[in-house]
Amino acid sequence: MIEMNNISKSFTMHGQRLSILNVPEWKIQQGERIALLGPSGSGKSTLLHLLSGVMIPDAGEIWVNGLPLHGYSQSKRDRFRAEHVGYIFQDFHLISSLTARQNVELIVPPEWSKKQAKEQLDDWFDRVGLKDRQHHMPYELSRGQQQRAAIIRALITKPQLVLADEPTGSLDWETAGEVMSLLLNICESEKLTLVTVTHDLHLAEMYPKRVHIGEINEVPRRNAV
Ligand code: ADP
Ligand code: MG
Repeated sequence: MIEMNNISKSFTMHGQRLSILNVPEWKIQQGERIALLGPSGSGKSTLLHLLSGVMIPDAGEIWVNGLPLHGYSQSKRDRFRAEHVGYIFQDFHLISSLTARQNVELIVPPEWSKKQAKEQLDDWFDRVGLKDRQHHMPYELSRGQQQRAAIIRALITKPQLVLADEPTGSLDWETAGEVMSLLLNICESEKLTLVTVTHDLHLAEMYPKRVHIGEINEVPRRNAV
């Protein structure tokens, strides 16, 4: 389970302090799949950054399966993220000089044997429908195919927490639906906790649970840009 208690986060811009998040309490159960909704500038990405340990709150506690993320040093948070968090970005973040398969190979844990790594990669590329495209460079792939490769990279180690920030934001609507359902199905069958930011209400409907950021964040909207 993930628990946020009395979290606050503000940013200072041009000498002015802007309160972005004030979350009295938010609980996410293991294996939940949540669509996080809210207008642009309302703090959704910041919330994901707190959950992944990229940022720390100004005050408050974040517990991830009993681990006190709020009390961790940066290096400990980096290790936590590498071991426990899969992150999916709107614009994929694939390394452009590597093939789809090499992009995934980069993050294969060193303790995996060569045989295990090969079997896992074969299996995953097949599973997401990229078997015959895995040796292509990112620029030779459609945007949907690139996101499928990025999904493998995020999920192959079966991280306990998967965070997706507008993962379909740069895809056409049909591809967006396919990629979203792939992500949802894998997280369901692997029992991974998934929090996906989207402002597409149709896509959010695919999720078993939807949370509007206003339900958990008490900072009024006037601060949003
Ligand atoms: P959302 O993802 O909901 O669009 P964000 O979490 O990205 O919103 O940003 C929320 C607010 O915080 C915005 O007003 C944004 O400009 C501000 N913000 C985000 N990150 C920073 C930062 N590193 N420095 C200053 N302001 C920031
Ligand atoms: Mg955002």
